[in-house]
Amino acid sequence: MNDKITNNNILQRITPKSVSGWIGLVIVIILAFSFGIMTSGGSDSSDVTVHEDTAEVSSKPTIWTCSMHPQIKLPNPGKCPICGMDLIPLVTGVGEEELGPRQIRISNAAKELAKIQSTVVRRGFAEAEIRMVGKIAYDERKVNYITAWVPGRLDRLYADFTGMTVNKGDHMVYMYSPELLATQEELLQAKKAEKALGQTKSNILKETAEQTLVASREKLRLYGLTDEQIKEIETTGKTTTHLTINAPIGGVVVHKNAKEGMYVKTGTQIYTIVDLSKLWVYFEAYESDLPWLRYGQKVQFSSPSFPGETFNATISFIDPVVDPKKRTIKIRAIVNNKKNLLKPEMFVSGIVKSKLDNNGKVIDENLAGKWIGPMHPEEVKDKPGFCDICGMPLVKAEELGYASKTISDKDAPLLIPVTAPMITGKRAVVYVEIPNEDGPLFEGREVVLGPRAGKFYVVKSGLKEGELVVVNGAFKIDSELQIQAKPSMMSPDGGAAPVGHGNMVMPGNSSKKMKSKKQENKQAGSKAIAALNPLYDRYFDIQMSLANDDLKAAVKGYQAVYDVVKTIDMTLFEGDAQMSWMKISSAVSQSAEKGAKDKSIEDLRSTFLLLSKSVIELEDIFGHSESKN
Ligand SMILES: [Zn+2]
Ligand SMILES: [Zn+2]
Repeated sequence: MNDKITNNNILQRITPKSVSGWIGLVIVIILAFSFGIMTSGGSDSSDVTVHEDTAEVSSKPTIWTCSMHPQIKLPNPGKCPICGMDLIPLVTGVGEEELGPRQIRISNAAKELAKIQSTVVRRGFAEAEIRMVGKIAYDERKVNYITAWVPGRLDRLYADFTGMTVNKGDHMVYMYSPELLATQEELLQAKKAEKALGQTKSNILKETAEQTLVASREKLRLYGLTDEQIKEIETTGKTTTHLTINAPIGGVVVHKNAKEGMYVKTGTQIYTIVDLSKLWVYFEAYESDLPWLRYGQKVQFSSPSFPGETFNATISFIDPVVDPKKRTIKIRAIVNNKKNLLKPEMFVSGIVKSKLDNNGKVIDENLAGKWIGPMHPEEVKDKPGFCDICGMPLVKAEELGYASKTISDKDAPLLIPVTAPMITGKRAVVYVEIPNEDGPLFEGREVVLGPRAGKFYVVKSGLKEGELVVVNGAFKIDSELQIQAKPSMMSPDGGAAPVGHGNMVMPGNSSKKMKSKKQENKQAGSKAIAALNPLYDRYFDIQMSLANDDLKAAVKGYQAVYDVVKTIDMTLFEGDAQMSWMKISSAVSQSAEKGAKDKSIEDLRSTFLLLSKSVIELEDIFGHSESKN
């Protein structure tokens, strides 16, 4: 499996007479990836026929060839004599050398041609501006209900529309209550009895009257009457059939829960009043933003209603659960609304400026070494103590994920641009450039990434300060490693490369499947096999687009694969062949559909891995026709 194959080897296997149809296409692609790249000469596979006439074992500095016409080999750069395309360098004169399993040497000219660019791994603080959209909401702790404390009929509701501002003590409800009347009469009876018993010496009677009096006073108090109101009833002897309910707090009537004339029971909600002097803002953060966000951080936000004005909120809660549909996390922040500008349900857009240290702790000068209220993030003190608002013990900022002290620049974490790593699932590979006069050496390296910081990733391990990482063209290097069956990102074990034509690159590689291929070939006629050609063509289009880092073209390519699968007539296949076709074509469609929706080049590449598996399986079973119809 680890046979090293040089360009010479590839050329040896390709004789001009075999350049047609599928194979021709594959060669073009292989060469497009392979130009000018040379590795140490490995052992040849024994089942390869060596055509001495076309092979040229060369030690000359550079040979120039045409990507469309590999038989062209000229000592100087220029145009292809057949098609007029610019020639590309084929072999450099760096000589034979032993390279590591993940290493590859590329001539300076080829590097330039492939637009491979590198940048220095440097130290710096990972800084990010986390942007979130949000919506203003009530502070749930400031919501109050006006409820009926006594059963009765609502004769008058003073605040007759929602949104009305009320002050503490304002009249809210005027209600009729038979129970209220009965209790008042009880009170007056008890009062009379107490007076009448004033002369008697019976303590028992006196005590009973006294108890009735106390009980009916208490009942009236529970109905919401004030001590003054009760005293007034006792002194004047006048009862009232109606009761007025006052606003317990100032705020805004956000809901009128009842209607005039309605009969209510004890506990029925009549109004909802909210104090809007403090509000909550619910922001939506992405999972990837989480490393940057902390309880107690400041969020600056603005609202389209107040252009140019910024507001400051403090994060008071980070939801421990991810929204399963939106894949976002709710972040709650508190904002002061003394000016009364903000209104619940307003849309806002917020930004958190966050800076991380090596250990992923947030660096915040205002909170380093401080103590914070666990329920009230606005409570920040220099020393341990208690929250002024709720009395809970304060918590050390460190325990909430903040750095304990400010860190010097030389201890800052390592950063690489986001374009450097190739990420599939949990693996991340970068290509390190080792400069050399004859042409740089590129080495694949697995790295452990920390959080993403805007245009950078924090690198936890795998790289050293000052090393060069490839930021552009890494996929081309990876393709080349695949072609050479070396460990690459796409095939980490260096095995059957999901790129190009497996049989071409690794002769005998799929011999195990030859039997099944022949069997099913009987049931899949030449028409069926020919019908697969457009699918293969579109598949290679995607590969080219990815090699060129062309996101738009790759997305189009996936769409084209998706479309072309639908045009292939399944009745061309019979029996087992039809079963295989249906199974694989649905996998192809699925991958293609996903690819057509992918938004990043990284996603497009990992989808390509999926698609490749199916396409290679397809080719293994059915093969391909040598000439296109
Ligand atoms: Zn040409
Ligand atoms: Zn508190």
